Amino acid sequence: MNMALKFFVDFDGTITQDDVGNAFFLKFGGTQCDELVREYKEGKISAVDCFRGEVAAVGTLNKNEFDQFVQNHPIDVGFKEFVSFCRARNIEFHVVSDGLDYYICRILSANDIQDISYFANKVQLHSEDGGEICSVDIQFPYTDAECTRCACCKRNIMLTHAGEEDVIAYVGEGYSDHCPAQYADIVFAKEDLQKFCQQKNISYYLYDTFHDIVKRLEKLLVPRKVLRKRRRAELMRRAVFMQE
Ligand SMILES: [Mg+2]
Repeated sequence: MNMALKFFVDFDGTITQDDVGNAFFLKFGGTQCDELVREYKEGKISAVDCFRGEVAAVGTLNKNEFDQFVQNHPIDVGFKEFVSFCRARNIEFHVVSDGLDYYICRILSANDIQDISYFANKVQLHSEDGGEICSVDIQFPYTDAECTRCACCKRNIMLTHAGEEDVIAYVGEGYSDHCPAQYADIVFAKEDLQKFCQQKNISYYLYDTFHDIVKRLEKLLVPRKVLRKRRRAELMRRAVFMQE
């Protein structure tokens, strides 16, 4: 079977320059959301319960205001170059996010980026009277059966979309990237994820923008050069399948 390189990419703070999800709940849900996030970080509530609490804090919102808010989040300066690079080389990539699909698809299309595969928590807006004031419905299609640290389990999505022969690359920067980075062969890290990789002794490539990632790939993807799997990641992936 042919080995393929597959990319999994975080959204908030990685594809976008800032954390859209956090900014959204702060703006529309207020300081109550800070308190929920604090409880979540202390391990007192699950990620799903944190989201449910935040959505309750939001209550209803004005759809126009929300859509305008969503458009105002710039993306990484090199991301489009990365998308073109992957498409030209037939490299499969997926966005994996513990954020909300509502803003992910809108931000991508506002930047003229079409047909991207993404996995995230699902949000729908419902208007009682067809007007601008909407309630928010949230669903969690990608929870893990046991682990409650994330609402959208990036690890499981990676493992179901990559075969044993594939080399998995991961790009991220924050807390929700700690878990999946441990299962990836090639890690691109910055900020908080860089610190985590240092602590856990996970080898990584430091990047600032996706432009750096493309430059690195040009060096890695040359004829006769074989992409190496990371032994520890491979063992961890195997251990997940043994548990099932
Ligand atoms: Mg992030």
